Amino acid sequence: APRKLAAGNWKMNGTLASLAEIDQLLADHPRPGCDVLICPPATLVHALAGRVEGKIAVGGQDCHAKTSGAHTGDIAAAQLRDAGASHVILGHSERRTDHGETDADVAAKSVAAYEAGLVAVICVGETEAQRDAGETLDVISTQLAGSIPEGATAANTVIAYEPVWAIGTGRTPTSEQIAEVHALIRDRLAARFADGADFALLYGGSVKPGNAAEIFAIPHVNGALVGGASLRAADFGPIISAL
Ligand code: 13P
Repeated sequence: APRKLAAGNWKMNGTLASLAEIDQLLADHPRPGCDVLICPPATLVHALAGRVEGKIAVGGQDCHAKTSGAHTGDIAAAQLRDAGASHVILGHSERRTDHGETDADVAAKSVAAYEAGLVAVICVGETEAQRDAGETLDVISTQLAGSIPEGATAANTVIAYEPVWAIGTGRTPTSEQIAEVHALIRDRLAARFADGADFALLYGGSVKPGNAAEIFAIPHVNGALVGGASLRAADFGPIISAL
């Protein structure tokens, strides 16, 4: 069965002072009933990893597909690993939109993550226009086929379903809508990978303390990828408890 994972994506938020929130989180949840992952800005990966001493996992928010070289501003997967990361978010919709990342880019970055020993948290999700046009399942299928490389296993890959229109908006899909997409993801993984039943599937997009329990009750939802509500222990703690 998939492991449960509560993952926080801090996006472009936080400074060293923000790590006090993680001290508080650990104090409040010394024995969480699920895996906990925090993906802070790259500037904080090393400090956070040193601070949590393996009690929670630390991840990057992107990596380059190449191992090194003339790529100003980019970070290699092995560098994240060296800084103490065990995971990396790849193909977040903000990367796809802001930086033009394609499914092929995400697949190449995922291979780089595997080679560095990182777990890839691969994100997919439809826009509001795509949902309104009835294209959601086709869009997700295409993203899954193109973004997940052949070497994916339940041990090295987590899939996050994040509807673009639910990110940072306070709007969430209905439980039926989430269930439909998560069932599709599970079917596609099972059709393609021997251990497809064991990949952890996360829902992301306006997950809050008030809606977490309902979302975690949906079949094939094994956790959450949380943005805004991961920044403060007072918000992320109850989400961890709900899982
Ligand atoms: P919010 O939880 O702020 O909607 O962000 C979701 C997200 O994009 C996590 O990667």
